[in-house]
Amino acid sequence: MTPDARIYAYSAVLMGSPILLKLFEHNESLASRVFRLIKQQENIFTVNRHDSEVMAVNHAAGSHAVVVSQPVFNLIRCAKAVSESPDSSFNFTIGPLVKRWKIGFSGNSVPDADDLRALLPLTHSHDVVLDESTRSVFLQKAGMEIDLGAIAKGYIADVVRDFLKQEKVENALINLGGNVQTLGAGGEGAWAIGLKTPFSAPDALIGVINVNGKSVVTSGIYERYFECDGRRYHHILDPKTGYPLDNELFSVTVISDDSIDGDIYTTLLYGMGVEKSLRYLRDIPDIEAIFVTKDQQVIFSSQRQFSFTLLDNTFHPVY
Ligand code: ADP
Ligand code: MG
Ligand code: MG
Repeated sequence: MTPDARIYAYSAVLMGSPILLKLFEHNESLASRVFRLIKQQENIFTVNRHDSEVMAVNHAAGSHAVVVSQPVFNLIRCAKAVSESPDSSFNFTIGPLVKRWKIGFSGNSVPDADDLRALLPLTHSHDVVLDESTRSVFLQKAGMEIDLGAIAKGYIADVVRDFLKQEKVENALINLGGNVQTLGAGGEGAWAIGLKTPFSAPDALIGVINVNGKSVVTSGIYERYFECDGRRYHHILDPKTGYPLDNELFSVTVISDDSIDGDIYTTLLYGMGVEKSLRYLRDIPDIEAIFVTKDQQVIFSSQRQFSFTLLDNTFHPVY
């Protein structure tokens, strides 16, 4: 990927992630409005600050329902539906386990098995009661915590895309720590998005995904993890056991129109593994996935909305 001299890149660190905005014009003011918008969204959805709207719901767990804004209600309703879909290991009530593991934050240790087991009853999405008429959310058990970490970045990437569209921007890319959303075709007829080589140098790529006005989201076990006694513990947890999900995958990348779908499906498919995912995606033509396995295969569910160029021959494409 040779740098395109017409592209202006703006970066920031928000939501605990590096954020990159690419525009085809020098426009500091637009870039700072985008970053302000992201910050504003983060302040609503984060569980890493006590005063967010989501934390207001969590603080009231076991006590009372909390009225939330329409966007928060909608995102929670969506996260609940995905969590309750058949065979889903996506679970937005995973908060108590995420907080216990602290993966991606300092002070990591492997929790006691008993500790984790004791938290499992607090992670049932059926115990979240939504009331459409009052726009309120009630976590029925004290100690429950919702965590929108597996869906919020995708949602916010779409908010940014919609904002840029409204500002009449035709060509742009926003990368929210691995959640990429694009407008237009970039400079060369498509935006080029790198598929990272797991556990390698930050700029090492398996290949390049080319898209035009699509979202590309990757969720992998090499982004947020820690090591203890020679074992790696990553940040996507199995709601059945409380431990990191363990399967044949390094990462899942989803190509779709909306980044919220990309974010949902990367997490959902990661939990399903390759075989089940491929069967599952047959009925959902708008969602396409690339699976990178620990034995160096790059498996494509289908390839209608993007093209792919392999750069690293130690990986084997499977179509
Ligand atoms: P990324 O952080 O790379 O975007 P995901 O979109 O898969 O990855 O989101 C992972 C985050 O979602 C975790 O950091 C945690 O906050 C939360 N999480 C962990 N396990 C699950 C799960 N099984 N279902 C839903 N959310 C989860
Ligand atoms: Mg995500
Ligand atoms: Mg996700």
